[in-house]
Amino acid sequence: MSTPELDRYHRQMLLPGIGEEGQRKLLASSALVLGCGALGTVIANMLARAGVGRLIIADRDFIELTNLQRQVLFDEDDVAQAIPKAEAARRKISRINSQVQVEAVIDDVNHGNIERLVTGVDVVVDGVDNFETRFLANDAAVKHGKPYVYGGAVGTVGMSYAILPHTPGSDSAWEKAGHATPCLRCIFEQAPPPGMNPTCDTAGVLGPVVSIVANFQVAETIKILTGNWAALRTTLLSMDVWENEFRQLRVARAYDVGECACCKKRQFEYLDGKFASSTTTLCGRNAVQLTTKLGQGEKLDFDAIANRLRPHGEVAASKFMIRAQISDNGSPYELTIFTDGRAIVKGTKQPTVARNIYAKYVGA
Ligand SMILES: [Zn+2]
Repeated sequence: MSTPELDRYHRQMLLPGIGEEGQRKLLASSALVLGCGALGTVIANMLARAGVGRLIIADRDFIELTNLQRQVLFDEDDVAQAIPKAEAARRKISRINSQVQVEAVIDDVNHGNIERLVTGVDVVVDGVDNFETRFLANDAAVKHGKPYVYGGAVGTVGMSYAILPHTPGSDSAWEKAGHATPCLRCIFEQAPPPGMNPTCDTAGVLGPVVSIVANFQVAETIKILTGNWAALRTTLLSMDVWENEFRQLRVARAYDVGECACCKKRQFEYLDGKFASSTTTLCGRNAVQLTTKLGQGEKLDFDAIANRLRPHGEVAASKFMIRAQISDNGSPYELTIFTDGRAIVKGTKQPTVARNIYAKYVGA
């Protein structure tokens, strides 16, 4: 039987795994899209078209011309008007599917606000650009028993993995049905120190790899929201679309054989702020100091960071610090990085701008 509100989902409801019942589940469900850049725009777009009833889109950033190559919800008008990404996405999505309720959160997601965001939704979908926020999202998702769909892409390489967290002592339906999975920390013990990994702003990124990864995330999200847990991919998918390599890493036993601090020992160190970076606006200096807590014995790889910064401006490096003059979207910044994980971003008084510059050019 057809009802007008369901008509637009006809082709999706034809699928045996979804049907009208699955479609009604999607319409009654909610998702947090964490980050609205390359991954997040594709994720939000496809979830809205699929009829996920409520989307919360969180992003701290504004749209720039260089985003348009891959961030599919945005256009030149958005760049000209300097609209925050979350708000531009909200406006665009309400034109794509007016049945979907969209909330834009224009903020830096951190250990102070992530639990509030995560507890209000049925699933968390990862569109962020740094590991600190991913581990934070993983902590919050595990603590509150929410599925979390990880994705990441840089260069021509991408990864995706869906997590149905173990919920000891509670009665999550997937735990009872035997479909709980290892969490992100079961697989990667700790977020790498800043500067260890290339970022899209330093290494570049191919648009298609982002879309591919994001769509794998969306497929898993739709399975989760319709209760098709047995259909979830239990492997960590990794690909290089330039080298034509696709790998599925078998990680299903990581929970059983490991001693995960997060999902097994229930120690939520990222939520507790143990590894959190912090920012301080430096009085009268038009500068912000960022402090990243490094693990014991961890050191920043100065050579790698300096090499990555060189194409973007003048770089002076010594044993003690790196100083780089960077022009980002027409604005000049001076970035000074110290061996102990501290950095000073000169050229702004706003912590979110400083964090953004750091995440883009150093990587967190
Ligand atoms: Zn775990």
